[in-house]
Amino acid sequence: SAMRKARIKRTKTVCTYCGVGCSFEVWTKDREILKIQTHAEAPVNGVSTCVKGKWGWDFVNSEERLTKPLIRKGDEFVESTWEEALNLVAEKLGTIKETYGPDSIGYIASSKCSNEENYLFQKFARAVMGTNNVDNCSRYCQSPATTGLMRTVGLGGDSGTIEDIMASELIIVVGANPAESHPVLATRIKRAHKLHGQKLIVVDLREHELAQRADFLVHPKPSTDLIWLSAVTKYILDQGWEDKEFLKNRVNGFDSYVASLEKYTLPYAAEKTGLTEDELIKLATMIHEAKSACILWAMGVTQHKGATDTSTAISNLLLITGNYGRTGTGAYPLRGHNNVQGACDFGTMPAWMPGYEPVQDKEVRERYEKAWGVKLPEEPGMDNHHMVEGMDKGKLKALYLFGEDMSLVDANSNHVNAAFERLEFFVVQDVFFSKTAQFADVVLPAAPSLEKDGTFTNTERRIQRFHKVFEPLGDSKPDWEIFQEVANRLGANWNYKHPSEIMAESASLAPLFAGVSYERLEEWNSQVWPVLKDGTSTPLLYKNRFALPDGKARLVPVEWTPPFVAGEEFDLHLNNGRLLEHFHEGNMTYRSEGLTHKVPHPWLEVSLQLAKERNLEDGALVELTSPYGQVQVRVIVTDRVKGNELYLTMNTREDTEAVNRLTSSYHDTITHTPAFKEMGVKMEVIESK
Ligand code: SF4
Repeated sequence: SAMRKARIKRTKTVCTYCGVGCSFEVWTKDREILKIQTHAEAPVNGVSTCVKGKWGWDFVNSEERLTKPLIRKGDEFVESTWEEALNLVAEKLGTIKETYGPDSIGYIASSKCSNEENYLFQKFARAVMGTNNVDNCSRYCQSPATTGLMRTVGLGGDSGTIEDIMASELIIVVGANPAESHPVLATRIKRAHKLHGQKLIVVDLREHELAQRADFLVHPKPSTDLIWLSAVTKYILDQGWEDKEFLKNRVNGFDSYVASLEKYTLPYAAEKTGLTEDELIKLATMIHEAKSACILWAMGVTQHKGATDTSTAISNLLLITGNYGRTGTGAYPLRGHNNVQGACDFGTMPAWMPGYEPVQDKEVRERYEKAWGVKLPEEPGMDNHHMVEGMDKGKLKALYLFGEDMSLVDANSNHVNAAFERLEFFVVQDVFFSKTAQFADVVLPAAPSLEKDGTFTNTERRIQRFHKVFEPLGDSKPDWEIFQEVANRLGANWNYKHPSEIMAESASLAPLFAGVSYERLEEWNSQVWPVLKDGTSTPLLYKNRFALPDGKARLVPVEWTPPFVAGEEFDLHLNNGRLLEHFHEGNMTYRSEGLTHKVPHPWLEVSLQLAKERNLEDGALVELTSPYGQVQVRVIVTDRVKGNELYLTMNTREDTEAVNRLTSSYHDTITHTPAFKEMGVKMEVIESK
């Protein structure tokens, strides 16, 4: 047994699933994963994990892993060598760039991949290919929150850490389901609630687990959050409860903002939101009485037509009540993927260089131009939405996408798939042959996190190091190595030997990461940006100044945008979201036996009332139809949802059950995040059970 022990390897890693960013050791013997061992020193989770972190790793050894590059020959994909595939990618991208110009190609990055990989991908798009057409999946989720915060307080990240949330007197959770989407964070909130008498308000359509524990549960009509937020803010001002000192010293734009609130009276808000005036007053009173309050939100807020403005309204409310810059206060948009924060931070966005410096800023560009030895494009590029429309209209000729199953996760997937068909050349780089890969010309096999080194940044802005456990399976390679191979075939002369060199380059160029280094991230150490040159982290933002030019925050007047209405025949409201056991499209979790055994397929939640009206029982099969498509799915009858509101889990194995066959192309007007949460459907019973 001494021999046997000697072969057991322990490697520190960071969870590949949600934005909480749990870290732990993976114990392995050869390619076998023996167990996940938690560690008290892990900065976010200590000894906790959720089921995904603990059981969600089988996918790494799945038989379905891509192990060789594939090249389309007619309707077939044929295995090829790297040499052949990379030469083809370089030749095609090069020719298309020459023929139609650099802006005829789009680049979709991955929130599942490392900071270093995202940095290198945007460098490839900008420096080698000459375009700012680069975006990542935060376009589907938190872009409105990022923009809402940048407008008002200056930085698109959580104001503090999970420790700060724990220390709050009042937590308000709006349109988020942390018990399933951010489980370890939810555990912390539950503990604070139980042990330290923390108060919890939940605002949601659905009575999820945390909602059942709330001190005050509020259920407004769908898509009306901006209205109750503004009415509560106005009521606080009318009572003279605003934080006058704070507003005087630290905030601009007070008068015009207050004037903009005029119409948000209690009767108006009650009529629009369906909440009673008493409920609105109770919300205002609870916020007023708490010495510290923070607001957590997610897709229930951001996936709407007016999402940036609603996120802004959240920030406005926090500013009016002085809830920024102290522990227990602030804004917490909860990040979905493990590295959605990092993908944005490291510049895979059409208007931003790494560290949130605008591409339009000449000084910023010059700094990068000098370091990279190129001339950079000056105007913001296409975002994800523009790219789909560009493909559809024949303007975008080629797409290079990695670690993102756009065919499943983008809204209105029938439309997206039709747009893919129009591409002249499409490269998909992934761990599995995704739904999106069906449309590719070349599929490149990538290695998951356990097979490479790198860093991820969690929802707290915390950068953590993960280490290579296995060699890449078959011929697969880490994404950053693939980018380097492609870039060098297109005239670059990159010579990165390890991701630490990529991070060092980024830290030398982006002030936000000035003191980030692999030496400082060894063992269980982490760094929270902004990181000063000497390595000092900034766990709590805005203590003395906001990240805007004069150091003051800005109150920004906002307008309510009515939701998309599908039409009268689509009489049911369809909400959608995550599930504890599966993650996003489910490409990893459905390939992990323990998880699939627990939850083999998605389901539709139907209220008791609706089930009675339509004569439905658990297990009935229904067909949902929207103006954009159909799905068939089994039913669960539950009091988690009410009346005509349905809830469909968004993780799926089969695209016939995928919610995005139903969603529309309507989107937030400012960030173009799809209005995934605004859909009317009709429901037909196929089998009542
Ligand atoms: Fe992974 Fe999130 Fe679960 Fe932690 S809470 S183990 S980061 S999925």
